[in-house]
Amino acid sequence: MLIDLHMHTGYSDDAAAHSVEDKVRACIDRGLSIIAITDHLDFWHHLPPQETDVDGCLRDMNAAKTAFSDQIELLTGVEIGQIHADPRAAEFLRTRAFDTVIGSLHGMPNDVDIYFHDFKHIDCDAFLQDYFDELLHMVRHGGFDVLAHIDYPLRVMRHGDYIPSFDRFMTSVEAVLRETVARGYALELNAAGLFGWQKRVGPPENVLYEFKRLGGERISIGSDSHAPNNVGRGIEECIAHAKRAGFNSVTVFRQRRAEQVMI
Ligand SMILES: [Zn+2]
Ligand SMILES: [Zn+2]
Repeated sequence: MLIDLHMHTGYSDDAAAHSVEDKVRACIDRGLSIIAITDHLDFWHHLPPQETDVDGCLRDMNAAKTAFSDQIELLTGVEIGQIHADPRAAEFLRTRAFDTVIGSLHGMPNDVDIYFHDFKHIDCDAFLQDYFDELLHMVRHGGFDVLAHIDYPLRVMRHGDYIPSFDRFMTSVEAVLRETVARGYALELNAAGLFGWQKRVGPPENVLYEFKRLGGERISIGSDSHAPNNVGRGIEECIAHAKRAGFNSVTVFRQRRAEQVMI
């Protein structure tokens, strides 16, 4: 079964202009069975929340969910960045009914996206330690269902001879994973890394094995598609990555309740 639980529409300001309906049609054409649309809503420590028309998106998702129900299962989702940084995030979720909430760490405590840090001129190992400290804050704060793309820094930090790796930070990785298991979040396998320098889906194999060793049973998979022509991209590789690590099912959240779906 092909499942893609992380994707964006034109409601996200870093995505190509396309509607929820365009997205769902593209997913049906790709042969996907269950999808979640998860447009961005980022919260910050010092700045106001990002302006996204989440209610318009939710309205369109609910309409599409009904309109296409005989062809595909659409789960209404949102990707919340820095859920721990602003109490308005919890208030936002209390007053909206989503099927699934992705928790992401895009920005550091300085409210700068990881992508925009000047890695040529900062201490990258110190940065990674700060990243894991912040990730642990976010995971302990909770309020989401799926812990997204924990390999995001690996995707964007490579420069010159510096090859970023989590291998020296496995104690910190373990702390994050233990908390993830204890709280019942699904760990996301994100296909985006497949199309960067690593040429493989995240998280790295040893991280996924560690999650399994610690008792992790819930995983999610997502393409992180930002355009209609690449829905489901890398999903087969995510499934292969999951199976190699001993996972035979994916956790799907319906009305925020976890259910296992065989892959
Ligand atoms: Zn993200
Ligand atoms: Zn995303």
